[in-house]
Amino acid sequence: MSLNSKKTNPGTRRTRERELILDAVMGEHGHFSAEELALGLARRGGDVSRATIYRTLDLLVDRGTLQRVPLDEGGCRYELSRERKPHAHLYCLACGRLSDYHVKELETVLRRVGRSGFRTEHLLLRVCGYCPRCAKARPRACRQLLAGRRSGKATPNQREAMAWAR
Ligand SMILES: [Zn+2]
Ligand SMILES: [Zn+2]
Repeated sequence: MSLNSKKTNPGTRRTRERELILDAVMGEHGHFSAEELALGLARRGGDVSRATIYRTLDLLVDRGTLQRVPLDEGGCRYELSRERKPHAHLYCLACGRLSDYHVKELETVLRRVGRSGFRTEHLLLRVCGYCPRCAKARPRACRQLLAGRRSGKATPNQREAMAWAR
């Protein structure tokens, strides 16, 4: 699968980079951030700039290959749109884990929405709380949160979770 049909000389490097990114994206399962994708590419020796990664991800969203899953603390993760049934996201306020939760009824809701004449582009439904591991492991969650606070990177979600973990 190629994003560029023309392989002119100045664009060759960019085309190669985009193909590397596309291969990495198609091999992803679940949700991933641009940073995780960049780290994965770097581990496999792919020398791709962050700017190219962001540009290519934007392009893939525009083309409908990927969907953005926005996060409360800003930024987003991505997921492949292929063969995805409408689903909700379970978001853990302590560890930030995002998992799919399939709700059969959502298909009925979207069908009804479609009949009203509204054309749905995507659906955002997020349930925020604590994943089974974090709900059980309060001490571990505390350590993670404290580490986040020490590095000055505590997000609003982490502050909220910090209050919970106390
Ligand atoms: Zn968790
Ligand atoms: Zn999802």
